[in-house]
Amino acid sequence: MSQYRTFNAQDAVAYAQQFGGLETPSELVEAQEVGDGNLNLVFKVFDTQGISRIIVKQALPYVRCVGESWPLTLDRARLEAQTLVEHYKYAPQHTVNILHYDPDLAVMVMEDLSDHRIWRSELIKNRYYPQAARQLGEYLAQTLFHTSDFYLHPHVKKAQVAQFINPEMCEITEDLFFNDPYQVHERNNYPAALESDVDALRQDSQLKLAVASLKHSFFSHAEALLHGDIHSGSIFVAEGSLKAIDAEFGYFGPMGFDIGTAMGNLLLNYCGLPGHLGIRDAAAAREQRLIDIQELWSTFAGRFQTLAREKTRDAALSVPGYASEFLKKVWTDAVGFCGTELIRRSVGLSHVADIDTIADEEMRHECLRHAIALGKVLIVIASRIDSVDELIARVRQYS
Ligand code: ADP
Ligand code: MG
Ligand code: MG
Ligand code: MG
Repeated sequence: MSQYRTFNAQDAVAYAQQFGGLETPSELVEAQEVGDGNLNLVFKVFDTQGISRIIVKQALPYVRCVGESWPLTLDRARLEAQTLVEHYKYAPQHTVNILHYDPDLAVMVMEDLSDHRIWRSELIKNRYYPQAARQLGEYLAQTLFHTSDFYLHPHVKKAQVAQFINPEMCEITEDLFFNDPYQVHERNNYPAALESDVDALRQDSQLKLAVASLKHSFFSHAEALLHGDIHSGSIFVAEGSLKAIDAEFGYFGPMGFDIGTAMGNLLLNYCGLPGHLGIRDAAAAREQRLIDIQELWSTFAGRFQTLAREKTRDAALSVPGYASEFLKKVWTDAVGFCGTELIRRSVGLSHVADIDTIADEEMRHECLRHAIALGKVLIVIASRIDSVDELIARVRQYS
């Protein structure tokens, strides 16, 4: 049995040689740590030509961006690898391929996606990938349908729910999404100029009631194996391709959480665009984000309905009309969770580059205010936004 130790570059090379599945592993000669995330070590392992061929990712026993004072379970590496393995079964084109993992070392070896780019950076640069939103909808439909009670045998589903219990990572989401932004908390992170906007969140009892309901659903609705952190920084894109990575928050939760997180990140980009392109040039890019949201949802819902019609095994759940009833609830949840993502990324610990890298301070504050206002309205009126066209109309109304 292996024992945990933190990898250095040499360890990563040796491990990639052993588990990378290359025909001539001795080609792998050096590694570089490239992790830019908040939590983990990520090594690129290069061949003799200097080409990156294999990725080795290892969890640290604490939060990387904070340090050893914030310990964090190593089990998240197992959960990440197993979530991605499970998703790969149903969406192989849109999930990074995990080649090997070891729960004791908290390490995984995966397909190198250096020919792809992180979607968030591309969105900020206004580089458009016409297929990306539809492919994300397809990824979400395949993974969420096939890990739900629509598809799995009830015994298998229950065994899987137990296998994917992820209390420590869920607690981070529970705190950062649903608690911190609505109370005074040292983890919160927003400019003093926004104090009155943030205070208004704390005073808004209608908003806090709606957030309580969303958190309750996150706690208790084990609908499907979620990615759990599907923001645009967990998505690689290339021409014609989209792949999800970084699923360490994977657990069985409400489907609307993944969809809402994805839509929320498109809207955060929407809010930030004027800060990067100027107000006039941002207009067209913003329209594109709204179309992306439209395509994401309609692809998800269309594929989910088809899968439900063709593959639902349960006698009751396969009754005509039930899948579309269920999707209405998923949509309402998604709009609410989308709102919480907008707010927590503007007020809470972890922000997005789409807004944070805006150089002009006044403009940055305006974009943050916009995200907060939009998030608030989406949370409160989610149940009245009954279609994606209605959502887009509301976004326009509050812009
Ligand atoms: P964290 O959990 O710490 O956020 P990520 O899985 O998001 O780690 O990876 C951090 C960064 O490492 C990514 O933004 C990307 O630049 C790089 N990376 C991760 N996985 C791959 C991969 N399969 N291929 C190429 N680069 C990767
Ligand atoms: Mg990440
Ligand atoms: Mg707590
Ligand atoms: Mg991560």
